[in-house]
Amino acid sequence: MNEKKFETGQAGLRLPDDFRALSHAILTCANRGEPKISFLREVTELIINFSGCDATRIMYKDDSKYFCGSAGITNGQIEFKLEPCSLDQDHVGPGSRAAVLDQLSRDVIRRNFDPSLPFFTPFGSFWTGSADRPLEFGQVTKEYSRFHGLIVDGDYLTVALVPITVISETVGLLHLQSKKRDYLTKFDLALYETVAQALGVALMNHRAQAALRERVKELTCLYGIATLSEQPGISSQEILQGIADLLPPAWQYPEIACGKVVFDDFAYMSPGAVEGAQRQSARIIVHGAERGDVEVAYSKTMPDLDEGPFLQEERKLIDTVASHIALIIERKQAEEERQKLQDQLRHADRLATIGQLAAGVAHELNEPLGSILGFAQLANKNPGVPKESSGDIQRIVNAALHAREVVKKLMLFSRQMPTRKEHVDLNKIVKEGLYFLESRASKSNIEITRSLASGVPLIFADQSQLYQVLVNLTVNAVQAMPDGGKLTLKTEACGGRVHLIVEDTGIGMSQEVLGKLFIPFFTTKDVNEGTGLGLSVVHGIVTSHGGTISVESEVGHGTRFTISLPSAGEKGADGGDN
Ligand code: ADP
Repeated sequence: MNEKKFETGQAGLRLPDDFRALSHAILTCANRGEPKISFLREVTELIINFSGCDATRIMYKDDSKYFCGSAGITNGQIEFKLEPCSLDQDHVGPGSRAAVLDQLSRDVIRRNFDPSLPFFTPFGSFWTGSADRPLEFGQVTKEYSRFHGLIVDGDYLTVALVPITVISETVGLLHLQSKKRDYLTKFDLALYETVAQALGVALMNHRAQAALRERVKELTCLYGIATLSEQPGISSQEILQGIADLLPPAWQYPEIACGKVVFDDFAYMSPGAVEGAQRQSARIIVHGAERGDVEVAYSKTMPDLDEGPFLQEERKLIDTVASHIALIIERKQAEEERQKLQDQLRHADRLATIGQLAAGVAHELNEPLGSILGFAQLANKNPGVPKESSGDIQRIVNAALHAREVVKKLMLFSRQMPTRKEHVDLNKIVKEGLYFLESRASKSNIEITRSLASGVPLIFADQSQLYQVLVNLTVNAVQAMPDGGKLTLKTEACGGRVHLIVEDTGIGMSQEVLGKLFIPFFTTKDVNEGTGLGLSVVHGIVTSHGGTISVESEVGHGTRFTISLPSAGEKGADGGDN
């Protein structure tokens, strides 16, 4: 069946079927899933091209805020703009043409007008009249005739404001303007009213789809972060870099978005990231302390939306990402601490097992060694021993004495040596125990610095064993500085404990050496230089006194041993001496 052809203001160029096609095109646009601005641009351009008007605007409410896309013709070209639009506040008093138009737009949206006035259609659109039904100004109220006069006073002689309604709620306005007088007929307007309804559906559809898309992007980003952080053996640095890479695709303009995570003054950036003027960021707070931030920046200036060019959903996402990072870091730290504790336990366990073994060996060797030494010494005292044999017997005695030293050290390590504990002043031990070292240190060009805290509490300890600890640590320090350096000895009192710190500026140790340090017979030195028992002995003595040892070392920079012993509660007689 042929459609009846209406006599339209556009010289009969448009048929109802054309309007239907326009509605269809608008609905198709909404389904294409483009960002809000591109969608508004496309629809306003479609309408301006279709209508032949000189300017169109689409105003609509999205999340309690009005958006306004306008298209006008300048030098034969369509120019699109996203304009600020505040239709929430009433205009008071006389104003410009734009202010009057805004007030009229508000009236149309709120249906706040007298429908019997000739400016309004039964559907509720405002329009300046047409050739078909000329306005009779005598009939209208003074107020509206003033509006009318003002509106058609400018460049545009035809103005139409068509409400966009969705399920009987007015959500926006389609605004058409032409420089020609009476450009739109009553029939045109009725057809634009149907287009406005399609536009309402399209706007809602676009909004629902955009929300869904944002949700999918948000979930994809969060899922990516979760998968990343679950990867076995992945470092915190790799996770932070991965998160910076995951950010751009979750934002509205991925092609110009740059992701950046700054954590503890280190920056992790997505590939090709540049500094952009428009940015959205959120702080990373770990255990109440600010440690950095997450940021997304656009490399080009984009039109304003909810928060600058960013969406409300993007604000929520960036905040969630920042709190996820904080959680991941907290979890990683807890994991690292647990791992460290486990390593320490494993190490202590291994040392305890070795200690038991050493104790057994030492015990078994002690007796036969005693016999070897005793009988060899007896044999050597025999006057009938030939001279050559006496020399050999003396070698046996020396070897047995050396073996007994080793056994003694093993027993110290495995805490089998009897101790004679008394109240001891650690400062005094450091002062007196250093004499043996001074000449050797000065020969090796080593400067010794003492920093002894005053009033260090006494400790309940075996004095000779503490000398042994000091000697073993300082000998190692001197050996670690073959080309000279600085040896620092410090004492300090710290919360019911007393610390002895031995620090050198020597060769330092690798992680591998650090892991084996206290194991008996572990040495990196030549046969004549070390037995590998020095630190095992230190460990045995310190633990048998209820103390702990910690080591910090850096290859090429030096080593610091800190021995912490429980204080006996009484202040030492000897004051500090630096
Ligand atoms: P030894 O000194 O007889 O080798 P230790 O048990 O005293 O045995 O030390 C074990 C190893 O620890 C040493 O061989 C050395 O590699 C390393 N070490 C100990 N103290 C230091 C130090 N201050 N600087 C560098 N390395 C050290």
